[in-house]
Amino acid sequence: MSDLEEIAVERGERSGALMTVAVHSTVLGPALGGARLWRYDRPEAAIEDARRLAEAMTYKASAAGLDLGGGKGVIAAPGEMRPEGDLRRAILLDFGDLVESLEGRYVTAEDVGTGAADMAVIAERTEHVVGLGPERGGSGDPSPVTAIGVRAAMRACAEHRWGGAELAGRHIVLVGFGHVGSHLARLLRADGARLTITDVDDSCRGPVEAIGAEWVEPADALSIPCDVLAPCALGGLIDERSVERLGAEVLCGSANNVLAEEQVAERLAERGILYAPDFIANAGGLISVYGDLKGTPHEEALRLAAGIEGTIAAVLADAERRGLIPLVAARDLAQARLRAAQRPRVGGAEARPAGIHLRHS
Ligand code: NAD
Repeated sequence: MSDLEEIAVERGERSGALMTVAVHSTVLGPALGGARLWRYDRPEAAIEDARRLAEAMTYKASAAGLDLGGGKGVIAAPGEMRPEGDLRRAILLDFGDLVESLEGRYVTAEDVGTGAADMAVIAERTEHVVGLGPERGGSGDPSPVTAIGVRAAMRACAEHRWGGAELAGRHIVLVGFGHVGSHLARLLRADGARLTITDVDDSCRGPVEAIGAEWVEPADALSIPCDVLAPCALGGLIDERSVERLGAEVLCGSANNVLAEEQVAERLAERGILYAPDFIANAGGLISVYGDLKGTPHEEALRLAAGIEGTIAAVLADAERRGLIPLVAARDLAQARLRAAQRPRVGGAEARPAGIHLRHS
């Protein structure tokens, strides 16, 4: 836990649910990160998840050039995976109190297991929440902005690999036709790309064919020879086995933690497959809620998401120049910005000492 600035762990007074907020860094700004509601076998597993995810948010925000730190909320769902009714409301009010106790050093948002309606309940107890629906003045679903960012990342990869950013005529295989995948597919069709799409949900087949894309079964998608593979489903899709049968020249999608293990990034490079690091390519969602926090117009979020093209281009060029894989160059970019901000500034605030708060334990 030494790498965290702060961690708060408590049992909610109303719900009895174990909840934690990990603040990894506030060097660049308030620590923003979603609130995950998930089932955990042990309290330690929930705390470890918060720590790991908070750190990842620090790098994502830094690489995206946002004035944000990294944090994460994790609520261990008591008993059932998806608590409803009074219990859910009690959990969310408790979590709102926990967020409020951090006085703005952590700002929460939706994540796995929570949505805009939950953020509205949390907002009854704290103002440090983003991701509210448009009826509450928020930007709502971040997926369209995420899709714009992934397309921008793809353009940078295309420029790097084939000497031209245009995606017209490129064959792109898209895995996952959900929130991000469906928006991305429409953008890429408008670009004139040839699309092959899969999803474990068969009901997606009709909408996929309606936009002029070809349907493929999930088991066959990864090995199709194509220009770009765009994973927009769950993480961990590319592991040490599946990496061997990839048919794409470029790997660029929205899925968080798309590589099951870091060593897979090395193997991608050995196989000559260009990888756009996921935490940069999918930063559009964070950019979208950042706009809510800053109160900037939505156009600014769209501009920043389109700017991911330049960030990925810089990472790929840096990696090539230094003989590194793109994942390492991407981390270096994030860390360089953090180091620069950490330099002592005249009249600047001192870094906060690490703190652990345990309540009602
Ligand atoms: P979603 O749940 O709306 O869509 C995921 C889709 O993938 C679903 O249609 C599901 O049926 C399908 N799927 C699941 N497993 C699959 C498999 N093995 N093969 C094929 N299809 C499969 O989720 P989303 O919001 O579109 O997010 C997609 C990914 O992008 C996630 O990893 C998410 O963490 C990441 N991401 C999303 C955002 C955002 O703005 N929504 C932002 C950043 C990162």
